[in-house]
Amino acid sequence: MGEGHPECAQRLDAIGDQLRATGLDIALDFRDAPLATEAQLLRAHTAGYVADILDRMRRVRGLGEHHAVDPDTTIGAGTLHAALRAAGAAVAATDAVLEGRCANAFCAVRPPGHHATRDQAMGFCFFNNVAIAARHALDAHGLRRVAIIDFDVHHGNGTEDIVAGDERILMCSFFQDQLYPFSGGVPKGTNMVNLPVPAYTRGPAIRELIELMWLPRLEEYKPQMIFISAGFDAHREDELGQLGLVEADFEWITQRVKAVAERHAQGRIVSCLEGGYALGALARSVAGHLRVLAEL
Ligand SMILES: [Zn+2]
Repeated sequence: MGEGHPECAQRLDAIGDQLRATGLDIALDFRDAPLATEAQLLRAHTAGYVADILDRMRRVRGLGEHHAVDPDTTIGAGTLHAALRAAGAAVAATDAVLEGRCANAFCAVRPPGHHATRDQAMGFCFFNNVAIAARHALDAHGLRRVAIIDFDVHHGNGTEDIVAGDERILMCSFFQDQLYPFSGGVPKGTNMVNLPVPAYTRGPAIRELIELMWLPRLEEYKPQMIFISAGFDAHREDELGQLGLVEADFEWITQRVKAVAERHAQGRIVSCLEGGYALGALARSVAGHLRVLAEL
């Protein structure tokens, strides 16, 4: 994204370092991410958008310059492959989980995806990794009901834009009210459970809201697979938001979602990294998320 941008390569380095420092890396099975195909991108994005953004990415790759699509979101020489691998990781993880090759999967990817709408790149996002994977599970594997959980501090406006009104998908999220992208207050479909929360809300209040508003809907919906937009920028140390979550809160959320998946979805979860910009907090929170997913 360019010099000094919070959505930086060090985010994945910090996660990798933490996994090695804690010994978690030994217990996990690592896979390389393939590039997503255009047909996979088209499950969530318009043909015009996919053609235009790929064209811009290819031109930047050739010229080696940066190209801003909005004040926060820049295409660099590596963006084409990074964005295609981020979406490709989510699709490959979905295949692996649905074919029983792994119990669940976490995609340590960047750029993130949940702000990418059907036809717009924004908020550091180009392709909506989670929406692409959810549609892949429905359209390529024949599932009938999947859930998307989004616990990033920012509203997943792109995912909502793509999935609102698609009753094969139930999306549950919380996010800081009156924060970028300043949306989500009024859900765009009956399949959306949007919980805007005020700045400085802490873990206990979030847990109570989840118990009250997410879990009954998930129990009733009985998703056959669960996708997680795993943003860790609701952490109290993260300066891109003002919520007060800590590692234990992310672990608790993961446990509750995992319990739903075990009851209804044969444990099938694909989680994709979204935000999280305080490097230490991000790394520790991801490690906690993975410990719960991997039952370590
Ligand atoms: Zn975020």
